[in-house]
Amino acid sequence: MRGLIVTPSVPDSARLAEDLPEPDPAEGSVLVEGLAVGVCGTDRDIVAGHYGSAPPGARDLVLGHESLGRVIADDAGVLAPGELIAGIVRRPDPVPCPNCAVGEWDMCRNGRYVECGIKQRHGFARQRWRVEPDFAVRIDPGLGLLGVLLEPASVLAKAWDHIERIGTRARWEPAIALVTGAGPVGLLAALLSVQRGLDTHVFDRVADGVKPDLVRHLGATYHTGQLRDAGLSPDVVLECTGADSLIVEVLDIVAPGGTICLTGVSAGGRRLAVDVGQTNRDIVLENNVIFGSVNANRRHWAAAADALARADRAWLASMVTRRTPLTRFGEALHKGDNDVKVVLDLTT
Ligand SMILES: [Zn+2]
Ligand SMILES: [Zn+2]
Repeated sequence: MRGLIVTPSVPDSARLAEDLPEPDPAEGSVLVEGLAVGVCGTDRDIVAGHYGSAPPGARDLVLGHESLGRVIADDAGVLAPGELIAGIVRRPDPVPCPNCAVGEWDMCRNGRYVECGIKQRHGFARQRWRVEPDFAVRIDPGLGLLGVLLEPASVLAKAWDHIERIGTRARWEPAIALVTGAGPVGLLAALLSVQRGLDTHVFDRVADGVKPDLVRHLGATYHTGQLRDAGLSPDVVLECTGADSLIVEVLDIVAPGGTICLTGVSAGGRRLAVDVGQTNRDIVLENNVIFGSVNANRRHWAAAADALARADRAWLASMVTRRTPLTRFGEALHKGDNDVKVVLDLTT
């Protein structure tokens, strides 16, 4: 069978494998037909040789962590043939650490977790894969191909879960949310914000293309230019760019008692002059919280599946700006100016 493989640490080694072995029954009782995988910056980083590792003893890694598949059979009898599912990306470390021991592998303390298509476990960019029922998440059948958005949505469901847990430290009635970045992560953050009834604002560098319309169709407000000029005082900020100058700006405008959730991974290596004393003073005197968030556990995947099922299908569909056959994976790995989410079709 076909799949997309890479040799981690070797730049530009992504290639189509025509004779991949059938998935090992040790990967789980559920045999799945791979329908699609979403492509994101993590995949591009792995292909560039910056990130990722193969399973122990293997040279190559099957790519793909944003999965969509259809159940062929489940030897354990939990899932029925024909069900649409996604496979959870991260698997708990074997020790396990206190968090992995209770299913909170997104908060793993020792870093010995594995991740499908990223770290030491094969991914989903292949025509058939296997998964344990405990790591399979059902997708509303009406979503069809749009179910491929479940993995990125799970990351934002976790971010919102933690924002709300932080909020309950005191009385908390958030009204305004700011999302920085209108890529797939930012747009899904904004979707979950609108679903919570918040007055949602999205800031991005670009002034045209599909992003402003996607934000407006969601019922949110789009901003570009200088963030300060927007005159916002958000109770919640979801920073989805990792851009250093923007992080400094959101620190400045967050409302008293407000929370900033950082989800973007910055490149590093650039220095910015920041008045740490003044920043500290502002954070203390306004009870602000700044925290980082990554990955998702099963509870978050379930919340994300609910959120996608409730979302407007036409809106979700307009997020998928390109659908590329597996055989033309090179085009999918190249990010175009007007791309939001690019999906690799495993069935063609
Ligand atoms: Zn991703
Ligand atoms: Zn752990």
